[in-house]
Amino acid sequence: MSGYARRPEWLKLSPLDSRILGPMRRLTLDLKLHTVCESAHCPNRAECFSRGTATFMILGDTCTRRCTFCGVRKGRPQDLDPQEPQHIVEAISTLKLSYVVVTSVTRDDLPDGGASHFAQTIRAIHDYNRAIAVEVLIPDFGGSRSAVEDVLSAQPAVLNHNLETVPRLYPEVRPQAEYRRSLEVLSRGRLLDDNLLTKSGIMLGLGESQQEVIELMTDLRQAGCDVLTIGQYLPPSLKHHELVRYISPEEFVEYQNIGRDMGFVSVFSGPLVRSSFHAAEAYLLATRKMPRGSGR
Ligand code: SF4
Repeated sequence: MSGYARRPEWLKLSPLDSRILGPMRRLTLDLKLHTVCESAHCPNRAECFSRGTATFMILGDTCTRRCTFCGVRKGRPQDLDPQEPQHIVEAISTLKLSYVVVTSVTRDDLPDGGASHFAQTIRAIHDYNRAIAVEVLIPDFGGSRSAVEDVLSAQPAVLNHNLETVPRLYPEVRPQAEYRRSLEVLSRGRLLDDNLLTKSGIMLGLGESQQEVIELMTDLRQAGCDVLTIGQYLPPSLKHHELVRYISPEEFVEYQNIGRDMGFVSVFSGPLVRSSFHAAEAYLLATRKMPRGSGR
């Protein structure tokens, strides 16, 4: 199926409103920040921006990997901006955020993959206001355990790492990643802090079967993953991975029910669900069901 085949009704979106996108773009431009919302062409960005939320992307805007589904720029990255943590704090202060999602491109060129920069960013946010909950959506750091430990030493509220797709499709969708290595990021986080909320996300429509998705969900539960997001893959351009099919809203509901029966604390499953969409609400919902300190 072409990535631009006629979209079903449930995926038709209103045109993006420049009055909403403009101020957020100006703020990020002034502070030399990047949002994954813009870099990955997220379909929900107008809604998130209108609610004053955004997912900040640190470590620059250029990724050293070549995932075929992803709209983020690829190539040789720039030097790190040591002011970036402080600029994020300025954006948080301007936007009056109480919940922040911080993600990054993958920086295989850096000795620690950027883990210390993640930790500095979390600490800068907490120095500004300890009450702000920080969700980190981290890369796999090439499987480095010490990198995950470094990030967790700064005490984020949520550790998120997306599996993105089923293991059979990794060579064509995430050619430089490894399915088991990604699962280990989550199980490592769970091992280091039993009270940490762990989260992962996948896209459907890349050619996976229902059985493969259920096996992936089982693997996530075994790795101790609490929260799962499932959304429809929408190719950023014709050069990206082919869209194999649209998943119906009923199928998404089915996955939601399967996930709840498996014991996930929360499953957000729907055509427009993205990893960070309504992340603050997802966090509040999950912590209500599973208060920190519950020591699972
Ligand atoms: S590692 Fe992340 S940012 Fe880089 S290409 Fe893959 S999905 Fe995109």
